[in-house]
Amino acid sequence: MPTPRQTQALRAIPAVDSLLATPTVTSLLKEYPRTLVVEAVRAVTAAARRSILAAGPEDDLPDLSPAALAAEVVERVREAARPHLVPVINATGVVLHTNLGRAPLAPAACAAITEVARGYSNLEYDLEAGERGSRQSHAEALLKELTGAEAALVVNNNAAAVLLVLAALAAGREVVVARGQLVEIGGSFRIPEVMEASGCRLREVGTTNKVYLRDYEAAIGPETALLLKVHTSNYRILGFTSTVSGAELAALGARYNLPTLEDLGSGVLVDLSWLGLEREPTVPESVASGIDIVTFSGDKLLGGPQAGIIVGKKRYLDIIKRHPLARALRVGKLTLAALEATLRLYREPKRAWEEIPVLRALSLGEAELKVRAERLAHKINELGLGLTAEVRPGTSEVGGGALPLSSLPTHLVAVTSSRYSAAELAAALRRQDPPVVGRIADERLLLDLRTVFPEDEPALVAALAAVGGGLAGGGVRCRRAYISPRRSSSARHHFRSFGFSLRG
Ligand SMILES: *Cc1c(COP(=O)(O)O)cnc(C)c1O
Repeated sequence: MPTPRQTQALRAIPAVDSLLATPTVTSLLKEYPRTLVVEAVRAVTAAARRSILAAGPEDDLPDLSPAALAAEVVERVREAARPHLVPVINATGVVLHTNLGRAPLAPAACAAITEVARGYSNLEYDLEAGERGSRQSHAEALLKELTGAEAALVVNNNAAAVLLVLAALAAGREVVVARGQLVEIGGSFRIPEVMEASGCRLREVGTTNKVYLRDYEAAIGPETALLLKVHTSNYRILGFTSTVSGAELAALGARYNLPTLEDLGSGVLVDLSWLGLEREPTVPESVASGIDIVTFSGDKLLGGPQAGIIVGKKRYLDIIKRHPLARALRVGKLTLAALEATLRLYREPKRAWEEIPVLRALSLGEAELKVRAERLAHKINELGLGLTAEVRPGTSEVGGGALPLSSLPTHLVAVTSSRYSAAELAAALRRQDPPVVGRIADERLLLDLRTVFPEDEPALVAALAAVGGGLAGGGVRCRRAYISPRRSSSARHHFRSFGFSLRG
């Protein structure tokens, strides 16, 4: 039962029509669809009703003036009209963060997407001949040039690449693979399951830690269609181990006239070992080893768009290109535009290191990161909003299921608040526009500038200022709504009141 105070407040909530008639809300109708505005008005009055009914005798009741409610409507309409997929600031230090979209694209790749997207293109048109062409022609020549392979094909992602190769060359027959290479990547790509989906049968050889060439050879029989080598991207078997090199496997395949496939996972085109990272086999090396078909991702260490790239011997690629799945797994023009532009940068490795964000992030030196971290910490401390920042050494990760044992030295900005937990700080930062994602360790919010573009640093400081300002005083203006402490409520409460806010 509502108390008399509540009943009185409920009666004071303006009617939907009268809120719609306020100048603020009326002006919204010029910019946004009427249904959206009406829905927001209903939601605001409903939320006011709920918060009145939920208020205890000590709690403030919401401001029910038309101006206050109209402001709330504006906020809701803007929020509803905002895109759902938005850029975020990645302050985790994980360079290839699968949840944050993996590889950011080089400016040249972004420009190529815009150019091709805005009009017609020669996607499948041969401008020389004036007749139908192939969408694969745009990247194929570059891929051949950069990898040394005879032919190339681009599909939706590396999982699709492996699926397609197996379906085209081994359906209904056996594929020989080492037991220690039956990997799971990202929780959904599992070699045994991809093999099953492609219609081939798995023939495991060796033990978890050791496999010898003779194991593969002993498994070859009339049912064998292909020999597979999988890069154990996201884990390593250490200690007493033995694997078979690509060159050895390729020679064995050639002897038995069987195709060999290497799923490289990341597929780097440049040597990364000078960064102090584990030695990662490059695509040209894998091709040169004699392996017939090599597959890799476009958006891991290559630093391009999401894609699966298949390179190798023409006689196998011709069969793969004709398989019906090739049509089902093909890429769109935006991907091809971005991939071609990214690959072009690799023609001059110096440009690739300078312009491809993934390579640039990996190559940032500890000293440079320290200077940037100290500058950011200074700015945070200068805000005077109850946030304390200090710089401490730490490590960044490559991510994306690549180089699991390698970490890169960095300097982290560790932020604490006198009143709020690291989790609360992190949650408030995620609600900023643009959202900021950091990591938490030892009750501190950690920001790693390795993955923050220098041009995004002002936005990062602004987000921290908004969060600090909100925590210190009135309320944080954020993407979703206002978060503002109820006068009589705890900090915990404060962070729960996202749905509807009572202006503090
Ligand atoms: C990442 C990875 C895949 C999956 O690649 P996607 O492009 O994410 O589909 C497959 N195999 C290996 C070895 C990988 O590292």
